[in-house]
Amino acid sequence: MDRPRIGVIGLGKMGAPMARRLLRAGYRVGGYDLRPEAVAGAVRDGVEREASVGDLARDAGIVLTMLPDGRAVEAAVYGEGGLAHAMRPGQILIEMTSSSPRVTRRVARDLGAAGVEVLDAPVSGGVRGAVDGTLCVMAGGPADLVERCRPVLACFGEIVHAGDAAGDGDAAKTINNLLSAAALWSTAEAIALGQKAGLSADRLIAAVNRSTGRNYTTEIKCPRFILPRNFTAGFTVAQYLKDLDICLDLADELRVPMLMGALTRQAWRIAVGEGMGDADHTALIELLERWAGVGGPPPA
Ligand code: NAD
Repeated sequence: MDRPRIGVIGLGKMGAPMARRLLRAGYRVGGYDLRPEAVAGAVRDGVEREASVGDLARDAGIVLTMLPDGRAVEAAVYGEGGLAHAMRPGQILIEMTSSSPRVTRRVARDLGAAGVEVLDAPVSGGVRGAVDGTLCVMAGGPADLVERCRPVLACFGEIVHAGDAAGDGDAAKTINNLLSAAALWSTAEAIALGQKAGLSADRLIAAVNRSTGRNYTTEIKCPRFILPRNFTAGFTVAQYLKDLDICLDLADELRVPMLMGALTRQAWRIAVGEGMGDADHTALIELLERWAGVGGPPPA
C-alpha cells in the first residue's frame, strides 16, 4: 500500500504520541478529538485538524481509533455522521482502543458489510511505549490485512498477530491486563507486608527481582514509578477496572470460571470506591500501605 493519509480519532495520552510517531515516519495525519485542547496539542505537532469524524474519514486511506472504551468506539462508529456512514469501500479501520471483543466484532461485521476492512489492534506498553514506539500491538484480523497494515503498526512497536478475526486482539489484550492487574495488586500487597515486617521496599524488590516472584511490575514499574513514588505511568485505576470488566464479561459470555480474575476485579473496584479512580494505577501502593498501617517514604 502507498503511504495512505491516516485519520486518528482520539488524541489522548496514547493517541497523541502515536500520531506523532506516524508524522515522524512521514505519514500525513489528520486528527479529531472531542476535546479541543487535545486537538490543539496535536496540531502543534503537525497533525491536520479535522472538524468531524466525517471530514476525517473522507480524506483518509486508513482511520485509526484510540478511544477510551467500547462505548466511545460505538459513538464514533454509529453516532450521527459516524464512521458507519462516512467510510467507503476500500478504506481500512484500525481499531486500537482496548475495547470489548463483542463491540469490535460488531463493528467489523457492520463496516465489513459496507466494504470497509477492520483490523483490531489494541496495544500494551503504556504511554512511554507509545512515545518510544515500543508498544506490543496485538492484531486481530486476516493475515493479509495485518501485512498491509504492518508499515503503519510498526511505527508503534512490535506486532503480535493474536488471531485471525477482529476481536481476537481485544481478547488477548484484556487477558494480558488481567494478569498485569493481578500482579500489580499482589506486588503492592507484598511491598506493604514487607515494610510492616521491617524490610525496605527497595531491598525487598531487589531480592524479588533475583528470585521467582519477579514480574513486570517488580522489574519495570517498581523502579520507574512505584519505588521513586512519582506514580507517572499514565494509566489510571479506573482505566484498569474498565479492562477487568471487559475480561470478566468475556469470561461470563464464555462461561469460564475466573476465581482469581473475579477477586482481582473486586480489589480494583474497591480501590475506585476508596477514591482512587483517577489516580495513576501505580499509586495503589499507597492504599495497600494505608491498610497495612505503614507509610512510604516522603516524596523526593
Ligand atoms: P485518554 O482518555 O487519554 O484518551 C482518549 C481520548 O479520546 C480523549 O482525548 C477523549 O477526549 C477522546 N474521545 C473520547 N470519546 C471520543 C469520541 N467519541 N470522538 C473523538 N474523541 C473521543 O485515554 P488513553 O490513555 O489515551 O487510552 C486510550 C485507549 O488506549 C484506552 O482504551 C486505553 O485502555 C488504552 N491503553 C492505554 C494505555 C495507557 O497507558 N494510557 C496503555 C495501553 C492501552
